[in-house]
Amino acid sequence: CGIIGCVGHGDDTLDVVLDGLETLEYRGYDSAGVALAGDEIDVEKKEGRLEALREEIATRDGTPSGDIGIGHTRWSTHGPPTDANAHPHTDESGRVAVVHNGIIENYQSLRDELEAEGVTFTSDTDTEVIPHLLAAYLDTELDVEAAFRRTLDRIEGSYAIAAVVAGDDRIFATRNDSPLVLGVGEGRYYLASDVPAFLEHTRDVVYLDDGDVAVIDADGWRVSDRDGQPVEKDVSTVSWSA
Ligand code: GLU
Repeated sequence: CGIIGCVGHGDDTLDVVLDGLETLEYRGYDSAGVALAGDEIDVEKKEGRLEALREEIATRDGTPSGDIGIGHTRWSTHGPPTDANAHPHTDESGRVAVVHNGIIENYQSLRDELEAEGVTFTSDTDTEVIPHLLAAYLDTELDVEAAFRRTLDRIEGSYAIAAVVAGDDRIFATRNDSPLVLGVGEGRYYLASDVPAFLEHTRDVVYLDDGDVAVIDADGWRVSDRDGQPVEKDVSTVSWSA
């Protein structure tokens, strides 16, 4: 129901993500989770309020760290609110993590196809097909962006998606019938379902449109269409405060 992403220089990625999720609380949710990415991906997710996730993180061994973070608050459509159904969702090897708002309409046929190939699912969500597809396309030696695009070619429905891959320093994101905005900071870039989630860090915003594919890293951002053609986007500066 709410997405946040942050990539770039700073040692407080986890706080940026968790605080961002807090400002998205008004959208309503039943579970929350984060993934921090570096050479490996560290996922923590929990049914219930954000406080439950914060507690889980505070009491576990080691805090998730990394320069790249994605977070999610879930309003469940497929599968009850449980830890397993909370986002981010990962592939079997744990090298891909995905957050998703909306509904993947054709998830059942994709799930059947993946299960027939031997993939084991760990949740009841429609979302989980996305990391498994992405991992399968990475296995065919497509580069990460091509694998992300191939995955998008397969899914139908309404979605805002952000994905990270272990060892890759980018966040890949797109939207279709679900809100997603990009925040342009200095050496740091943000993604969110709504501007207030990163407003304390930057007021410079790129409003993404359906079909836009955004690729962001510590050096900047670019947007292209689903065929990979660059799309010119305006950066607007918001004057209001949250
Ligand atoms: N359909 C997904 C799920 O049930 C995402 C729901 C949402 O937008 O939070 O997990």
